[in-house]
This record gives sequence, C-alpha cells and structure tokens, in this order.
Amino acid sequence: MRKKLVAGNWKMHKTRKEAADLVCAILAELGGGSSCDIAVCPPFTALDTVAPLLKGTPVALGAQNVHWEVHGAFTGEISAVMLKEIGCVYAIIGHSERRQYFGETDQTVNARARAALTAGLLPIVCVGETLAQRDGGETEKVVEAQVRRGLADIPADQWSRVVIAYEPVWAIGTGRTATPQQAQEVHALIRRIIAEMAGATVAQGLRILYGGSMKPANARELMSRPDIDGGLIGGAALEAKSFVDIVRASA
Ligand code: PEP
Repeated sequence: MRKKLVAGNWKMHKTRKEAADLVCAILAELGGGSSCDIAVCPPFTALDTVAPLLKGTPVALGAQNVHWEVHGAFTGEISAVMLKEIGCVYAIIGHSERRQYFGETDQTVNARARAALTAGLLPIVCVGETLAQRDGGETEKVVEAQVRRGLADIPADQWSRVVIAYEPVWAIGTGRTATPQQAQEVHALIRRIIAEMAGATVAQGLRILYGGSMKPANARELMSRPDIDGGLIGGAALEAKSFVDIVRASA
C-alpha cells in the first residue's frame, strides 16, 4: 500500500514573513497528525525561515528546483547538498513552468533528479503534455518520453525514493482539471513504463501524484483512483484551509 503524499508548490509566492504565517496557519489547521505525507515547497529565500517551524511536525520541507552539481560556477543555482543542509526532504524537478520558461529539458531533469537522489533528497519529477499535444493525440508518446529520459539511469537502490508528478500543462493554474479517468489513464501508463524500466516491485511502490488545479472539491475523487497517490498543489496550497482540506481528502 503506497502512502499518499500531498505537496504544496508555492512557486514565486510568499516573502519570508508570509511564508512563516502560512506554515503556522497550516500547522494550526492540521491540528496534529495526518495519515498521508505532507510537504510544502516555498521559494528558496523562505526555506531557512520555514525549516525550524516544521521541525517535529508532520509537514516536510521541499525545494522547487535543484542543480546537478554539488558546487561550482553556476550563478543563480542551488545544490542538493545546500538544500539538505537547510532541512529539505523533497525537491520538485522539471516543473512545466521550468520547462516552458527556463529551458529545462529531459536531460537536465535527469541530471537534477540523479543529483537529488545522491544527496539523499526525494525528487518529485514532473511530466505532462501540453494542450496541443493532448489534442493531437500525443499524450502517451510525450509522457513516455519524459519519463524514460527524465528517469534514465536511476540506480536500482534509489528508485524507492523517486516520486513522479503527472501534471497536464493545460490543467496547471487554469482551473481546468483532468477528469479522474483521464488522470488515472496516464498514471497507469506511467506505472507500466516504470515497471519496464525498473521492475514490477519498484513500479508498485512508486508514488505518482496528480497536479493541475487540484482543489478541495475535486481532490477526493482524483485521489480515490487506484494509481493516483496524492497531489502536487499550486494555487490551493497558498491558503492553509484549502491545502489542509486537500490533505484530508487524501485519507
Ligand atoms: C503546479 O504548479 O504544480 C500546480 C499543480 O498548480 P495549480 O494547482 O495551481 O494548477
């Protein structure tokens, strides 16, 4: 049985003060334990503020990106070792906004994911098709290529720490959600691909999150599908009540 994971991607939102306020509100709203794993991924500038607030709570810290080298002349980048030191557990990798605006490719996604694993982080590797690709009947082909290239050469003993997020680009921040059936089909496809790449046992244990306008109103139905193991939440993660309502919907 896979433990669900609900992770909030705060994107470029929240100053340090706002981030601290949001975390305190989430913890108050949660009021104790949870049956699923929970993570928040604030901007880099707020990680160090949020980390001590999360100590000893059920909420883990994540980053929104990670570089593939440990250190070096890579202006503007942050390494996995630095994120580990701050207290990060997860790192989102290959979000469609990074692919769209910052030149992220399956090759750089792969390098980032392997570096995250080496440093002991759990990568949340994002894949998903654009609207034109879905309308063109290319969803399976696109997602398969992203999974195979983005997760190439993962050492056998590190697969159990990989998380994949299926995020159809047309559903991110648009209010338009994939239907539970559409999402389930792609999640099942991803699990079949992972079974081919890493074996049936790895595939059965791997968590595949759905992301794309997940809200309290649609979260339960999405996460009740057999291959949907949680959510990567954007807009609804910026408000404590809606984020925690999604956490509760995963139960
Ligand atoms: C995301 O950015 O990962 C995301 C899923 O955003 P939203 O929930 O706002 O669609």
